[in-house]
This record gives sequence, structure tokens and C-alpha cells, in this order.
Amino acid sequence: MNKKHDFKKIQEAVIATGNKHKLEEIGAILKDFNLDVLSMKDVDLEGLEIVEDGNTFEENALIKAKTVMEKTGKLIIADDSGLEVDILDNRPGIFSARFAGEKATDEENNNKLLELLKDVPLEKRSARFVCAMAAVFPNGESIVLRGECPGLVGFEQKGEGGFGYDPLFIVNGYDKTFAELGEAKKNKISHRAIALEKLKSELKIQLKGE
Ligand code: IMP
Repeated sequence: MNKKHDFKKIQEAVIATGNKHKLEEIGAILKDFNLDVLSMKDVDLEGLEIVEDGNTFEENALIKAKTVMEKTGKLIIADDSGLEVDILDNRPGIFSARFAGEKATDEENNNKLLELLKDVPLEKRSARFVCAMAAVFPNGESIVLRGECPGLVGFEQKGEGGFGYDPLFIVNGYDKTFAELGEAKKNKISHRAIALEKLKSELKIQLKGE
């Protein structure tokens, strides 16, 4: 397979997130590539406000990655994620973080979701976590890949781990919420893990020619 990018010229990758957890998770995957992994702080862009005005997870992930690439000239990895609930026509979707309002807490978002689903039986509470993972190269070329993790929205919050909608999300194949499952297991099967695995395969082709 022909590699598209000269690995010798791409020695660094910036992970465009302010989320420490994502930084570690994405950084771990990039270990295979001998790249120096940089945070937004490392490139003096900590706290950078990026207007995510795309209509899809993919568009928003690309907006983040492109914005940071244009400011740094480096390889950038960025993601966008959220929860799609079938009976709510895939809401909250790209608005997951601000479902209950612009500065909503996880608790407020979870309560809003429970309220909207209060008369909905379990079999109609199907949902999925979605993650779009984007890489933008110094020459402006980009790739974006999607990971999905299906499950059901429970009737009450359960578990102490995770963040966001984790205490409500009962992941398919396990009778547990993501918050009950524990970080290690979640990170193996999550939407983010699936999208990262796909990105890793694609980067192997594009950077290493494998
Ligand atoms: P972002 O990708 O950081 O913009 O995340 C958007 C929002 O989606 C988060 O604030 C959470 O509400 C929700 N979300 C994304 N991934 C997860 C997850 O793994 N667990 C729980 N909530 C998530």
C-alpha cells in the first residue's frame, strides 16, 4: 500500500481537546506511531474557543481539527461525540453537551433526558453513543471516521464512573450502565474506542504505508 504522507516530516501530533481523559485515550493509541503527542497547552492554544457550527459529528470534528491545524501547521486529531436517542429523532445528538441549556451540567442533561422519556417503555428507549474522529494533515488533507456503541436509556442513573450520560446508558450485551461498567472496560468497547481503532488503521496506511 502506498503511503500518502512522509512520516519523517510528521513527527508531532496535536490532540485538539481540552478534555484530559480524551487526551490520554487518544495519546495511548498514537504510541504505535512514534509521534510526539502534544496537548493544546503544549502549542499555546489552551482555552481556544472553536465555534462548532457543523450539522454532523463529522463536520464538527473536522472544524476543530482544521482550526488547530491552520494555527500550528501540525498533524491534528480531534473528535466530536454525543448520544442519539431513536424515539427523540436522534436528539440530543450534536447538542449533547448543551441539551438542557448552554452551560448545562451532566445532571441537568440527564434529568432532561429522563423527563422526555418518562412514559417510554424500555424496548423503545434504544440509543447509541456516536464518536467522529478526525485527522487533519499539515497539507490540509483530512480523514474522519465514525464509531458507534448501541444501548438503551435506563429509567434511573446507576453507577459512579464515567461522565455525561454514562449513568443512564445501558450498553448492549451488558446489563450495566457505562458508569457501572468501569473505565477500563468502557474504554475497550466505547464509540470513542471504535472510532480510534478505525483511525489507527487508516493512519497506518497514510503514515507508514502498511
Ligand atoms: P464532546 O465530544 O466533548 O463535545 O462531548 C459531547 C457530549 O456528549 C458530552 O458532554 C457528553 O454529554 C456526551 N458524551 C460524549 N461521549 C460520552 C461518553 O462516553 N459518555 C457519556 N457522555 C458522552
